[in-house]
Amino acid sequence: MCFYDQYQMACKDFKWGNFRQHCSKEYRTGETCGMKLVMSTIPVADKCKLCLKIETKQGRVFKEQERIRRWIKEEQRGHQRGASIEASQHTVAQLEYEIRDLHYQRGQAQTTTR
Ligand SMILES: [Zn+2]
Repeated sequence: MCFYDQYQMACKDFKWGNFRQHCSKEYRTGETCGMKLVMSTIPVADKCKLCLKIETKQGRVFKEQERIRRWIKEEQRGHQRGASIEASQHTVAQLEYEIRDLHYQRGQAQTTTR
């Protein structure tokens, strides 16, 4: 067991920081063992990389949905927007799939580093 700093990100996720201190067991060998213990928790104003990615993709989903709503209104006024709506819906589905995957990765990262 060795001691590390731990960053608490704005999104409440944790990230390991610098190595701080060996535990008594590993002190003589000068090596760090696999078990990480928290020396101190440092709050960070930024969100973690995964949450930032999720946020960006979420923003793109909202934009696409806005376009879809606008095109549906235009269709009601007699303009052909079917192909655009379909393409946009496809993009939304793809983004939502990627967002689900990022949420999954986020869950994985948090269980393996804590
Ligand atoms: Zn996060």
